Amino acid sequence: MADVDVIKSHLTSHPDFPKKGIVFLDVFPILRQPLIFETLITHLVQHITSHTIGISQKKKIDVIVGLDARGFLFGPIIALRLGAAFVPVRKAGKLPGKCISASYEKEYGMDSFEMQADAIKPGQTVVVIDDLLATGGSAKAAGELVAELGGKTLEYIFVIELLLLKGASKLDGPVYSVIQTE
Ligand code: IMP
Repeated sequence: MADVDVIKSHLTSHPDFPKKGIVFLDVFPILRQPLIFETLITHLVQHITSHTIGISQKKKIDVIVGLDARGFLFGPIIALRLGAAFVPVRKAGKLPGKCISASYEKEYGMDSFEMQADAIKPGQTVVVIDDLLATGGSAKAAGELVAELGGKTLEYIFVIELLLLKGASKLDGPVYSVIQTE
């Protein structure tokens, strides 16, 4: 089996979670199996080193930005393997010190994300990572925070992309997803 198929076979789907009509895709079963988790991390690191780094002339990823909350499961491990910094984007009110914020649309109403104002330096190269791309609203807000600090988002990377919602079209850079589903 190809590594993507192995990873995919460990995803579970949960109809009517967190509410009726939503089918929730769960990445946690991947983390329960060290070999499968390793396969996923290796896949993502290989993609970044063989493809994403080439998008920039710097030939180095300076910062991995992970989205609250499941982007924190993958982002720091990938950052360590690449010798890059890890920077969290968090829901408003969770980060200390001076922060910048960007709002995004949720199913009902707006929410906002924050990043520490000194977390990214102008000109640094960035990869944004999260578990799943749906409408793209949250990843777009993360990209806005990176841009406000002068960072350059080379790519948005997800474990899963829900193609029907066309989230990739909202983002101002290339998108890579390990698994695509309708
Ligand atoms: P978006 O902003 O509409 O693209 O939604 C993406 C965000 O919602 C990500 O942070 C995901 O973690 C979360 N999300 C939405 N649907 C799912 C799902 O089915 N499984 C896991 N996370 C989800």
